[in-house]
Amino acid sequence: MIGKKLFVLVAILTFVMAGQAPVVAETTSTDVVVVGAGAAGLAAAVTAAEGGAKVVLLEKMPTVGGTTNFAEGVFAVESRLQREKNIACSRDDLFKYLMEYTHWRANARLARAFIDKSAETIEWLEDRGVVFKEPAANYPGGLMTWHIVEGRGKSLAQALYDRAREKGVTVMLRTAGKELIKDDDGRISGIIAEGAGGKKIKIDSRVVIIATGGYINNKEMLDKYTAFGRDIIPVGNVGKNGEGILMAWAAGADEFGTEVLQLYRPGIPGEGPESHLNAPARQPYLWVNKLGDRFCDESIIFSWPFAGNALANQPGRVMYVIIDENTKKYMIEKGIDVGVGVMVPVATKLTNLESDIKRGLDKGFVFAASSIGELAEKIGAPPARLQATVEEYNKMADQNKDTLFAKDPKYLQPVRTADFYAFKAVPFALGTLGGIKINHKTEVLDKGQEAIPGLYAVGNDAGGMYGDSYDVVLAGSTLGFAVNSGRIAGENALEYLK
Ligand SMILES: Cc1cc2nc3c(=O)[nH]c(=O)nc-3n(C[C@H](O)[C@H](O)[C@H](O)COP(=O)(O)OP(=O)(O)OC[C@H]3O[C@@H](n4cnc5c(N)ncnc54)[C@H](O)[C@@H]3O)c2cc1C
Repeated sequence: MIGKKLFVLVAILTFVMAGQAPVVAETTSTDVVVVGAGAAGLAAAVTAAEGGAKVVLLEKMPTVGGTTNFAEGVFAVESRLQREKNIACSRDDLFKYLMEYTHWRANARLARAFIDKSAETIEWLEDRGVVFKEPAANYPGGLMTWHIVEGRGKSLAQALYDRAREKGVTVMLRTAGKELIKDDDGRISGIIAEGAGGKKIKIDSRVVIIATGGYINNKEMLDKYTAFGRDIIPVGNVGKNGEGILMAWAAGADEFGTEVLQLYRPGIPGEGPESHLNAPARQPYLWVNKLGDRFCDESIIFSWPFAGNALANQPGRVMYVIIDENTKKYMIEKGIDVGVGVMVPVATKLTNLESDIKRGLDKGFVFAASSIGELAEKIGAPPARLQATVEEYNKMADQNKDTLFAKDPKYLQPVRTADFYAFKAVPFALGTLGGIKINHKTEVLDKGQEAIPGLYAVGNDAGGMYGDSYDVVLAGSTLGFAVNSGRIAGENALEYLK
């Protein structure tokens, strides 16, 4: 008891020393605190509340849903919806696939727990008002594991939020979880939160579930942990400063998978989902780095984390998509080969491309020239090197065979007819996917690999589902992991509270 008081005192002194409000203005108590109201936190809160626990859900933003609001579909295998559509894929096959893809660096028991629970989770969500369309694949010929949500992630978050309220969860918006409190025995005993105007609130609780959605908006952490550093452009994330991860580490949690990014297609920053300018920058035509060298089979854009990985190794982490006038006309008259989201699907005719190119020239993301040499100078590549790359590429196009990277020859568009264009593309990410080491029960592990009693981490804050990079073959796996890990944490928290 004395130790507990001492801990709170130390926490208060820490705030004083950090120049923040010195006093805890309010103290309250509950059974479970969930930090973050995205899919992971909402699923955890609903599960714990349905099991009879008193739950407080903290969300630092004015509304719930986080990045979940932008997502489209949830991973599941052997679901009722798949069976109805005669879609063949098995839990065992996908488990083996995932483990082999990650070279068994993923946490096998966690991966298995997620995969095994995924089908039942679709029905769990349906029972709580989520409506699914058909299962889909994320790219042509891919596995149909992506259970598309009617109304996207926003409606999933809303359904779980409504259910949480119905089951009596206290939702505290504009209130951020800041610091964990442990008792003398190393058990979690509560959390310090910060409400509007910096008001400090101490919440006594035997369980804290961390679900703050990762750290993609924290530039210092990006520099420290990832291949791209602060060059990466976050999509659909606001205020993901890694607070949950830092809080858990400060309470003794071990680190795992912090470097893993959910890389997205490289592209042009500041373009909305309806923009036609991003489409040329994401087509599988000739890609070069700033030295004028080709560096990958460009059709890896279909499996977009691969494109991000290939770009990570390039100087300055930029690439240029090089096309000629004929390919420009092809995209305007026949349409694009790779869709870029729901608003610009495959085969969209880029009817705005001429005016978009002008905008891109002004933005410094499109370069136009009447010769390859001039184009090279504009993008800062050695002219002879880019010329050699283009000549080699044109030869492969004539032979209908990519002798360098074995790309499907239908994407070998020659670069021969002036004018020539370069679309500069930079790395994007949908989030970070790790940081806190957990076990298959989502219990947070300390550096001695023992569970910290009462502490759980879920969704994008938890490490262990991926090797070194996200994989889109198991389409919907990050939102799927968020919901499933949230449920697993809620269930185990209920057991712990017994
Ligand atoms: C455009 C886009 C499309 C996507 N599409 C898909 C898809 O179709 N399928 C798929 O599997 N994945 C998809 N993803 C990824 C998926 O959305 C995420 O992996 C998933 O939503 C993560 O859920 P989460 O609960 O961990 O985090 P979030 O949904 O981001 O929730 C975290 C919450 O915690 C809050 N928070 C942060 N810090 C604190 C704090 N200190 N105190 C209190 N609250 C805090 C945040 O404000 C946020 O509300 C997509 C991502 C984007 C950006």
